[in-house]
Amino acid sequence: MSLNRALIFLGPPGAGKGTQSKRLAAVLGVPHLSTGDMLRDAVVRGSELGRMAAPMMERGELVPDAIVMGMVEERIALRDCAGGFIFDGFPRTIPQAEHLDRILARLGYGKPLVVEFHVSAETLLRRVAGRWTCSVGGETYNVYERPPRVAGICDNDGGKLIQRADDRAEIVRERMAAYERQTKPLADYYRDHGVLEVIDGTAPVEDVHRELLGIVRRTDDKRDGHL
Ligand code: AMP
Repeated sequence: MSLNRALIFLGPPGAGKGTQSKRLAAVLGVPHLSTGDMLRDAVVRGSELGRMAAPMMERGELVPDAIVMGMVEERIALRDCAGGFIFDGFPRTIPQAEHLDRILARLGYGKPLVVEFHVSAETLLRRVAGRWTCSVGGETYNVYERPPRVAGICDNDGGKLIQRADDRAEIVRERMAAYERQTKPLADYYRDHGVLEVIDGTAPVEDVHRELLGIVRRTDDKRDGHL
């Protein structure tokens, strides 16, 4: 199955975007592009961009559109993106979405496919509070829903599991507020463009994955005029 377009995952922190986008990217053989991962990487490397973004990320606020757009534009121009790509945590504002539309048109991609994850507030908090991330490969676990085989150690590569600094309760509240305020309006934006699909993000990981594959297949057939 081919993707050949941009796939966008929309949903608040803890909705399952990271888990599902990494998995789907591996199955479809396309890059998984997490702007949060790119920014955290820039912070660790201490680049100029990282130094600018760090204070905002620590507060749970969004970093300015211009920073993110430059990063994304550079990344999707690389050759490994030619067969399509999956965005995780991008776009997060209407100006980012509008800018992305222009870039995609310029690069010869059609409309993106957008999937919004619906998850109750209670589940979101539990998922974020229980989240541990591998410091080596970035694999995520959850102490309640998906614990590692050995506590504190990644099943895949034996890396040490760490908690993200911005997963602390008071910062999570700010990130949720930023989502409601700045990112949620994107659902209407993409609905108006006729490219929005909605899924139940509380379903088991395997079921959500299968549903996503179904959506990619169904919307691909439609594009080819098979339906
Ligand atoms: P995430 O890993 O997607 O939860 O992102 C972590 C943090 O990185 C966010 O709280 C923001 O500060 C920043 N960030 C990630 N992606 C974006 C984006 N598309 N626009 C603005 N800020 C972002």
